Amino acid sequence: MSADTAIMPIPGPVDPVPVPRAGKPRADGRTELVGLSREQIRAALEEAGLEPRQAKLRAKQLWHWIYNRGVSDFAAMSDVAKPQRGWFAESFAITRPEVVEAQVSSDGTRKWLLRTHDGHDFEMVFIPDADRGTLCVSSQVGCTLNCRFCHTGTMQLVRNLEAGEIVGQVMLARDGLGEWPKPGEEPANNYQPEGRMLTNIVMMGMGEPLYNFDNVRDALKIVMDGDGLGLSKRRITLSTSGVVPMMARAGEEIGVNLAVSLHAVTKEIRDEIVPLNRKYGIEQLLEACAAYPGANNARRITFEYVMLEGKNDSDEHARELVRLICQYRLPAKVNLIPFNPWPGAPYECSSPERIRAFSNIIFEAGISAPVRTPRGRDIDAACGQLKTAAERRRRNREAA
Ligand code: SAH
Ligand code: SF4
Repeated sequence: MSADTAIMPIPGPVDPVPVPRAGKPRADGRTELVGLSREQIRAALEEAGLEPRQAKLRAKQLWHWIYNRGVSDFAAMSDVAKPQRGWFAESFAITRPEVVEAQVSSDGTRKWLLRTHDGHDFEMVFIPDADRGTLCVSSQVGCTLNCRFCHTGTMQLVRNLEAGEIVGQVMLARDGLGEWPKPGEEPANNYQPEGRMLTNIVMMGMGEPLYNFDNVRDALKIVMDGDGLGLSKRRITLSTSGVVPMMARAGEEIGVNLAVSLHAVTKEIRDEIVPLNRKYGIEQLLEACAAYPGANNARRITFEYVMLEGKNDSDEHARELVRLICQYRLPAKVNLIPFNPWPGAPYECSSPERIRAFSNIIFEAGISAPVRTPRGRDIDAACGQLKTAAERRRRNREAA
């Protein structure tokens, strides 16, 4: 395969503001409809020659088939006249990312290796639990931010995923889990989570979602649209490593739950493990959290904290974390993530006793601090382990 693997220009080592690079148009010249708003579909139909009234009606029908029924074949659109279905199929496309490989872990976690239409690989993970099922969605192919404990961070950023490739992940998961309304069933107007496998979405796959803001926002708007995929914003969480200037906009324009990858409580340590800290420091980050629209005691901000042995896991660190949360009066919960190792990683995971002691200190201060159970480790699907096989092979070749 002749993928364009040229790397995006990266202006500096600390805050490599990524130059958003759109994917290429489809090779067959058709216009991709997935990821377009109703209004954009209407405009595309008009541009292709439909009368304004026709375009409006057809856009509504297409939207319904695409997002309520999960249909990707124009031929199945029974309320559209046959000749027009043929014309649609020639001019437009409704595609999902291509599935290169699907794996299932012994604990039920599933991982998909996906490919964009222009040949870039990325990953998506589904984590089933007793009372919920969480889809971990990617926002970029690779990441510019190089957090030292993260395997994705050792990949270079190839490109931002488009809105259609982000919402396409959710649609693909619905395909795979068989969760579209069956023929004859009323389409889910506001997708009811009861009895469903896919109930929650976390933007915690590959990439930094706030460095691909517009596409992530447009995709999540479709996911949250009651007449689109219909998932409540309360069931969606966006995780950021701390892109402070975009946080208020995320709250205002997307409005989902916020998770922040804090991981350290001193400048020295956070500078080392989350290099973006050199640009946006802890105080700035916590101020942005305190101001995050929609955060309150019923909707807390999650602070993610990866447990690295001897690095950020002492009792003093835990006490400082509590102090900071109190100082900034943050409606917060803390999610302790046991470090997931990968070949060549410069850290080890803290011992279970250390993690327990750290958690207890936070818990005793009245802040919830659960320890996240690693899932899908046997298929490298756990947090921070996402890195595509192709990239692993390329790196191994370079190292040899
Ligand atoms: N880029 C975003 C979202 C993707 S990462 C962010 O950094 O927040 C999702 C979470 O997994 C983040 O909290 C990240 O710091 C954490 N993570 C990354 N690598 C990890 C690893 N090896 N072990 C445990 N957690 C890791
Ligand atoms: Fe990028 Fe998040 Fe990994 Fe940091 S932790 S390198 S921001 S994906």
